[in-house]
Amino acid sequence: MDNFIFDLPFIKLPVEKQKILIVDDDPSIVDLLEQFLQRKGFECKTAENGQKALELLENSPFTIVITDLIMPQIDGLELLKIIKESWPDTDVIVMTGYTKNFTYTDVIRAGANDFVQKPFTLDEIEAKLQRLIKERQLRHTLKRLSVRDGLTDLYNRRYFDHKLKEEVIRAKRQKYPLYLLLLDIDKFKEVNDRQGHQEGDKVLQTLANTLKNSTRDHVDMLFRFGGDEFAVIIPYAKEEQAVAIAERIRNNFLKNVKNGVTISMGLAKLDANLEDAEKALKKLFSEADEALYSAKKAGGNRLVVKRAER
Ligand code: GH3
Ligand code: MG
Repeated sequence: MDNFIFDLPFIKLPVEKQKILIVDDDPSIVDLLEQFLQRKGFECKTAENGQKALELLENSPFTIVITDLIMPQIDGLELLKIIKESWPDTDVIVMTGYTKNFTYTDVIRAGANDFVQKPFTLDEIEAKLQRLIKERQLRHTLKRLSVRDGLTDLYNRRYFDHKLKEEVIRAKRQKYPLYLLLLDIDKFKEVNDRQGHQEGDKVLQTLANTLKNSTRDHVDMLFRFGGDEFAVIIPYAKEEQAVAIAERIRNNFLKNVKNGVTISMGLAKLDANLEDAEKALKKLFSEADEALYSAKKAGGNRLVVKRAER
């Protein structure tokens, strides 16, 4: 169980490797913390001021930053503010000796995840780190649960609504083509009725795996809407490519699934001429839905492409 979050083993999120950045203009503190954290098995880097810390952060992200508050040039509070804006998933522990200038509340309100007062013990640092790491894992697990469908591990309907809007806005701004493919299993109710719900679940998982294996990694986005309805957002593709992806899905599914289950699909392209993103999104969705409906009406097991009006 070591490689997974121990209290939620059914969600197979790998434990994140922690990379810690120590920022302080006092070399004795930096050395003490670096040696201690390395002994504890953490990967860490150090910076003697805020500017250097930002350069390191730009090069590669850190999961946790432990920073002094009073430093020349960029001080800890300013560094904290920049980190929270540019790397919102990075946690920050602030250390300070001058407590009369800053209260615990000031620092937490500024976005710090925790606060430690100098002089501190190494035990205290370790305890605070362990608590932060646990919180990070819970945060990531919660995020995953809120955007994924449990049966197929594809993104869920809630995330689809968010993502489609984001993609429509981006496609319009950057002027690249965007397609939406909607899919629905044909007569899925009969699969459940004849073969049982568990077999039905396997068919849903087969379709999800087929989608994963038939689309472009890190480009196309896959969703289960719920029930037997699925969607693929296909950016940066010409119509021939989008059609090829859809047909590959259909053919691979026919090969992978047992008992001759088939799928129907509707494909539509974002209308780049529509100024209003909200209207463009609604049109894209309803055209893909109409195309899917036509595919069903024509007997299923096919793709229907909504042709753009000229
Ligand atoms: P059509 O060909 O028109 O698409 O008809 P259909 O039977 O596929 O569609 P319908 O929408 O009538 O039925 C979908 C069925 O999917 C109904 C529901 O019981 C089943 N279903 C929904 N979620 C799940 C699930 O998680 N697992 C299983 N096994 N079945 C599910
Ligand atoms: Mg169906």
